[in-house]
Amino acid sequence: MNTRGIKEVSIFEVSPRDGLQPEPEFIATEKKIKLVNDLADAGCKRIEVTSFVHPRWVPQMRDAKEVHAGIEKKPGVAYSALVPNVKGLELALSCGFREVVTIMSTTDGHNRKNLNMSPKESLAEIEKINRIAAGEGVKVRSYIATVFGCPLEGDQDPAKALEIALALESFGSYEVSLGDTTGMANPLSAHRIPKLVKSRLTKAGLAVHYHKYHGLEFANNLASLEAGVTVFDGAAGGLGGCPYAPGAKGNCQTEILVEMFSRMGVATGIDLEKLYKVGEYAQTLSTLLHKTCKSPQGAAHGQEAGGRQETV
Ligand code: MG
Repeated sequence: MNTRGIKEVSIFEVSPRDGLQPEPEFIATEKKIKLVNDLADAGCKRIEVTSFVHPRWVPQMRDAKEVHAGIEKKPGVAYSALVPNVKGLELALSCGFREVVTIMSTTDGHNRKNLNMSPKESLAEIEKINRIAAGEGVKVRSYIATVFGCPLEGDQDPAKALEIALALESFGSYEVSLGDTTGMANPLSAHRIPKLVKSRLTKAGLAVHYHKYHGLEFANNLASLEAGVTVFDGAAGGLGGCPYAPGAKGNCQTEILVEMFSRMGVATGIDLEKLYKVGEYAQTLSTLLHKTCKSPQGAAHGQEAGGRQETV
């Protein structure tokens, strides 16, 4: 239980996409398929499977079509794909995805690094994505990255995230996920910003997406729960990272998040024992996990050259 009386939350599992995409060595398609299937078997009802981005930028996701073709389509499970633009959406639609995920950042610098567009251009693209998806009856979920701080531009005014969230809602996105891209949130900001955004959204739901920072991510998720958030992003095994912010080690580890909720009497619908096994499996796929976790602020000085990569 919690002081809000929330008895049930929803987990949005991102390990197959957000978790695996920065991995430098290509992971065999059948291993990705196994990860998705095992997550569904553990009771995950919402799984971000892959992304449709140019293979030059994200070679790890070049088997998006094959992964979708190979996974079990378990009834009651929403399988989604990240699409950075209309072209990505068209590919996702041609594969049969019924849910897509968009992404943009609050800052110009991070958005250009991530997507090679200004935030304004991203909004126009996401509006188009929503329009086309709605015509196909496909749901759109939207990430906003760098909400709690940007490795390039520092602290962020919550008004920016709010403005973007309201625009995304007006385009038709059914849920907005606030991303702490490089683990810069703290329990105060993790309470204050989601509370502000949630108080203004009228149709779209709100989720939070925290990254690992020595356990602070669980305090942040708890603070957001106390702010009334009921949708939480996580990656089994804590997979992930941000290539433009070497300090960002990975996504919040879903199995520990689920255990935290379970101990509090907050249901997730996920079998914890099975999820721990999936987390162990997910970690065997990763080489990034074993790198050192530096401070997120220091990450601003550690910019790496290289291709774009859609990071939340
Ligand atoms: Mg992430």
